[in-house]
Amino acid sequence: MPNEKQQAPADSFDVIVIGGGPAGYPAALRAAQNKLSVACIDEWKNKDGTFAFGGTCLNAGCIPSKALLESSELYYRLQSEFAVHGIKVSGAALDLAQMQKRKAGVVRTMTQGILTLFKAAGVTPLQGHGKLLAGRKVEFTAHDGSRRTLSAKHVVLASGSAPIELRSAPFKAPEIVDSWGALDFEAVPKRLGVIGAGVIGLELGSVWRRLGSEVVVLEALPDFLAFADQQLAREALRHLKKQGLDVRLGAKVSGARVTGAGVEVSYTDAGGEQRLTVDRLVVAIGRRPYTEDLFSPDSGVTLDERGFIKVDEHCRTGAAGVYAIGDCVRGPMLAHKGKEEGVMVADLIAGRYGEMNYKVIPSVIYTAPEIAWVGETEEQVKASGREYKTGVFPFLASGRARAMEQAAGFAKIVASREDDEILGVHIVGPLAGELIAEAVLAMEYSASSEDLQRTIHAHPTLAEAVHEAALAADKRSIDAPNR
Ligand code: FAD
Ligand code: AMP
Repeated sequence: MPNEKQQAPADSFDVIVIGGGPAGYPAALRAAQNKLSVACIDEWKNKDGTFAFGGTCLNAGCIPSKALLESSELYYRLQSEFAVHGIKVSGAALDLAQMQKRKAGVVRTMTQGILTLFKAAGVTPLQGHGKLLAGRKVEFTAHDGSRRTLSAKHVVLASGSAPIELRSAPFKAPEIVDSWGALDFEAVPKRLGVIGAGVIGLELGSVWRRLGSEVVVLEALPDFLAFADQQLAREALRHLKKQGLDVRLGAKVSGARVTGAGVEVSYTDAGGEQRLTVDRLVVAIGRRPYTEDLFSPDSGVTLDERGFIKVDEHCRTGAAGVYAIGDCVRGPMLAHKGKEEGVMVADLIAGRYGEMNYKVIPSVIYTAPEIAWVGETEEQVKASGREYKTGVFPFLASGRARAMEQAAGFAKIVASREDDEILGVHIVGPLAGELIAEAVLAMEYSASSEDLQRTIHAHPTLAEAVHEAALAADKRSIDAPNR
């Protein structure tokens, strides 16, 4: 049988994906699995001038941050916990250069892995800038400046996002940096300021706190993790504060300037005008969709009032045959959300079934303890007027957590009182990001709390906390008093 992929003219493809991050590269791979000819265009340029697929997530986000979170946590536990285990260590010292080198190695392996996957699947990688023109033509400008016009039956836009700059505290490396800059510090700042107690601010603040920085996190909102379950947020804040993160809520930054003494930050809180001097300042106030020179005005693609590419529930833009996925469209800016959208559109393009369940997307903050949730918070369920019940199980009562010396936090389940359906699961504790997967699966299958109660969990595991929380929702917990 003739191989359709080999017969396709070099400049024409069934699918062209613009953007090779965690939304774009899975879209390209799934489209190739669906026997379509595919090209993936990506312009990511690293600080050392090299080019790499993987987008923000692999090069400057999820992966390098998790590499540093892991290393810094080991260093912190070595100092704060090993003695309790009966392990005496002397002469332990930080080698930040090696820590950064390891992180860079992890990133390199992962980003090069995408090229290996492309090769195996038959995806054509194109490194440079892609721009959608009218009629699904795509102008491709390679990094060497050479330009050609490609055409496709379908185009997927996956251009991602960029950090938001605070007008009153503009980036000025090396002192005032974004999250990418904060992942690359070559020395541990003595005093570190972080603007924004969101996911990224808390993770980066944790890394440098564990490595010895005095960290102040300034957050404009009065509530900590205002979008999360507030019982969870309170517990998380208590532990983060215990680790020495100085989180100041209701603190709105109004200016920052580099002086001889460091970075002078001004902010207002309930007490009025305040000042703070730090050596480095990380601005982590969120990210905005990135669509710079991505499509021509006559392409048929439009943006909403917040700058996101307008799409329907199947990620279709206003232009026929053109889809948009990941951080450049509405919904949570998460790698796994973009990945599933990529898979969905690649299947839809191939005429297969494709659907996204936006109600069941897990969120994880990789602090210690980790914070993870899926579904609705107790506050949201309460506001909806539905009758509900909650079950909470503390890790203090978990044999495995105790054995690990990681007994902070709890697992909490919110379920409907009417039909027992699980509405939300919220975990703060050891490996919460892994534990939440069970809750995601349960909710994907519309499970009841009784379904979880009747599921056998291995002992002793951290996962028993989720089991016990489900039991606690009906006051049937075995390993903790029922209240
Ligand atoms: P991106 O990853 O931004 O990729 C877009 C790609 O498209 C880039 O390579 C860009 O150069 C390229 N591009 C853009 N325009 C063009 C064009 N016109 N032509 C060619 N190429 C173009 N999410 C999680 O789920 N878990 C985490 O733990 C997590 N940690 C994070 C930590 C940090 C510090 C940061 C900053 C983010 C983190 N995120 C995390 C968020 C995650 O990185 C994003 O949600 C994810 O990268 C979005 O994927 P994407 O493919 O939509 O966009
Ligand atoms: P996220 O969107 O999860 O990355 O979180 C960004 C956080 O930054 C949010 O909690 C915002 O409230 C916070 N933020 C935005 N602007 C400011 C500011 N000027 N000062 C302090 N915090 C801010």
